Amino acid sequence: MASEQSDRPDAGVVAASRRGACPSLTEPMQTGDGLLVRLRPRHGILSLQQGRALGEAALRFGNGLIEITARGSIQIRGLTSEMIAPLAAALHEAAIEIPKGPAIELPPLHGLFQENANAAALEDLVRQRLTALLDSKKLAAKLSVVIDGGGPFGLSAVPADIRLEAIGPERWLVLINADGHKRLPVAVGNAGEAVDCLEKLLQFLAENGGARWRDIPSDRLHATFPELPESSETIIRATPEAPIGLVQIDGGAIAYGLRARFGQLRAADLIGFIDDISHLGIQSLRPGPGRWLFLVGFAKSDIDIVADAARRHGLSIDADDPSIKMAACAGAGACASGHYHTRALGETMIDRWPGVLDGSLAVHMSGCVKGCAERRAALTFAGVDGGYHVVLSGRASDPPDALIAGGDIESAIERLARLIEAEKQGGETTATCLARLGKKRIVGALRQE
Ligand code: SF4
Repeated sequence: MASEQSDRPDAGVVAASRRGACPSLTEPMQTGDGLLVRLRPRHGILSLQQGRALGEAALRFGNGLIEITARGSIQIRGLTSEMIAPLAAALHEAAIEIPKGPAIELPPLHGLFQENANAAALEDLVRQRLTALLDSKKLAAKLSVVIDGGGPFGLSAVPADIRLEAIGPERWLVLINADGHKRLPVAVGNAGEAVDCLEKLLQFLAENGGARWRDIPSDRLHATFPELPESSETIIRATPEAPIGLVQIDGGAIAYGLRARFGQLRAADLIGFIDDISHLGIQSLRPGPGRWLFLVGFAKSDIDIVADAARRHGLSIDADDPSIKMAACAGAGACASGHYHTRALGETMIDRWPGVLDGSLAVHMSGCVKGCAERRAALTFAGVDGGYHVVLSGRASDPPDALIAGGDIESAIERLARLIEAEKQGGETTATCLARLGKKRIVGALRQE
């Protein structure tokens, strides 16, 4: 176990201070391993050279860890306040454009299929016409806008405050997420009319003190936008998310979905991976929701080269890889607050209990109780002085269900694994088995009661 260290990174930084603010280049966020910036390139696309430049910047100015978030943004960690300006300059030099303001999210494989409308062109129109409004500090920093051109893989599973969805050739439907689930249609029109509607919605939120729809009482919402229906159950266009592995795109080329093991990629691995595949003529890298990284535009005959390079550099190409459901933060060795080596515990679990980690169980290895890598998981191991907090169905910061001494963690997990193996009923996954067993039995196994 690593001990708690006192050398906190720069106390005097201008970190993200607005409540819930997104850690942009202008408002980086202080974390246990230094400052963090979250980046979303315009259209969500990088060239291979830009991906390499981003890796070099993370290595040079951060602690060399890159994350792709659950919403498909890129995070660079371990920065100091002095490194923010050189990082911004390096990104600028590589022509990586990081627009300011709320996130505008496009499906990662947009523009590669016959689609109803061009989502990238609409993003450009929005940014061109609403520059000042998008840059306004009056909007909630976490506000998100989804633009979906109507391709086969969409973002219907990704919640957003405002959605612009193409429902026919150059016909856009504008919807708002009133309560996180209900998506209420506000208007239908061409691109210009959709942007007019978006402007009206953003203006309303800005005038209401940076509110989000859930902050606006329903009666007020309907009085302001009388065109809103009470329900929209039949209007949502449900599409699957783009999968891991091969996706045939129009024109004969392919896209390929990969995922960083434990949701984290070492910058040196990203650079090495790109170097190994740079001769294949790959057109772009596209981060996507669910922590995916898509490679777009190469020949099917080159899949084996890509797959080999991915394996060598810590990327998973296997939809059944248990690490897909496991999240690890920087942990000891990379973060001053880390009490243990998070990825090492994750790899040990996969090596020793492969039958238990059947891909159904969300596991979170957190170096301390801050829980930077994941919000909630079925099973969380949070490092503390002298041991681990084990939290069932919760956050790293929640009161622990069990406290395990440092040297006992592997035997505790071993006992839990044996319990699961003994109790699993035909066809049951580990997640459903644990849910059936309940906290008392799980905690009893961990503690050897
Ligand atoms: S959760 Fe991990 S990365 Fe975050 S402060 Fe704790 S040890 Fe560091």
